Amino acid sequence: MNILILGAGQLARMMSLAGAPLNLNVVAYDVGSKQIKHPLTGEVYSTSLEQAILNADAITAEFEHIPDDVLTLCCNSNKFYPGKAAIKTGGDRSLEKALLDKTNVTCAPYQLITEKAHLEHAVKILGKPLVIKTCQAGYDGKGQWRLKSDSQIDEIWSQMSDFIASGTELAPHTIIAEKMIPFDREVSIIGARDKHGNVAIYPLTENEHTNGVLTLSIAGKNNHSVEAQANDAFTKIANELNYVGVLAIEFFDVQGTLLVNEIAPRVHNSGHWTQQGCHCSQFENHMRAVAGLPLGNTELKHITAMINVLGQPNIPADVLKYADVTSHWYGKTAKPGRKMGHINVSATSMNDLADKLGELTEYLPEQDYPGILKAAANLI
Ligand code: ATP
Ligand code: MG
Ligand code: MG
Repeated sequence: MNILILGAGQLARMMSLAGAPLNLNVVAYDVGSKQIKHPLTGEVYSTSLEQAILNADAITAEFEHIPDDVLTLCCNSNKFYPGKAAIKTGGDRSLEKALLDKTNVTCAPYQLITEKAHLEHAVKILGKPLVIKTCQAGYDGKGQWRLKSDSQIDEIWSQMSDFIASGTELAPHTIIAEKMIPFDREVSIIGARDKHGNVAIYPLTENEHTNGVLTLSIAGKNNHSVEAQANDAFTKIANELNYVGVLAIEFFDVQGTLLVNEIAPRVHNSGHWTQQGCHCSQFENHMRAVAGLPLGNTELKHITAMINVLGQPNIPADVLKYADVTSHWYGKTAKPGRKMGHINVSATSMNDLADKLGELTEYLPEQDYPGILKAAANLI
């Protein structure tokens, strides 16, 4: 079968690697350059998008910020999964909040903002501090402001209004203000839903972010009550969207109660650990779902952590001496802070994982890989 992926980054690359043993052949559409590419080598094909759509048995996406005309073209083929509603919702925080309200899934209290008076109103209603986010763009914590005092309102508004003004009638730009949640930790749930409505959910993942960027994910800490809340939210949202493929939901854990942070209608960075931690990775399950194949096993094989390697030109070779460490490199040009690859670390117990994370920081210095030591200390 031929699969077309919208987006030609690391997620398309890892989906393609997972699809090959299933006899799924992947081509990627680079939305920026408007070229059809090989997902691993970047080789550019002469195929047009229209031709690639015709050639494809199924079409999917590695990200949610897809131009409307491309999305419409793909959806009109009736081969696009997870579907237009899911991608649109995941790409617009105001639609995301509306979906959460509709399905009765709790999120951080919020106010939508299109003019300055709304921002002043949000400060009054929600209190300070506020996290202010662009609704239609942003990833890795980009497109966000933290409002801690009234004196910042003018300056933040002037930046916000630039963003709002850059929208168009067809593609409006809006802003959302959220109450800053004093969470104990951040967790996420990743799962797959197939064309018949069957659902397979991975164990809960605990995530450490630094400056808005995911640095570390850990799977295998048991917390059944929190996991049950996350699974319930997953099932409600996936069913409401009639979702097909892998879906990720990020949460804040506030004293054992989960609030949704955001939804990603795709494979997700906090699910990369499944490549070593489970029989069937999130990438394989996404490919299976969109290709109409049965979903694979999502049970935990062993405790696994994922460390994002940021900004480095290469994988630090010393980490490969460890039998339980696996490298996944994305083949991108290095830039400071850019996600260049990740390593997965498997362990027999949380103590074992804490020891391994501690040892790895010798080769992955804390200033380059922040959050590892803090998380390791929390494990024991
Ligand atoms: P991603 O790369 O995950 O898509 P993003 O740019 O969409 O990131 P968010 O996930 O919304 O951004 O926010 C990034 C991080 O900022 C969160 O993981 C969390 O650590 C912090 N954050 C966001 N919203 C809030 C909030 N309302 N209260 C407290 N912290 C928040
Ligand atoms: Mg996001
Ligand atoms: Mg996020």
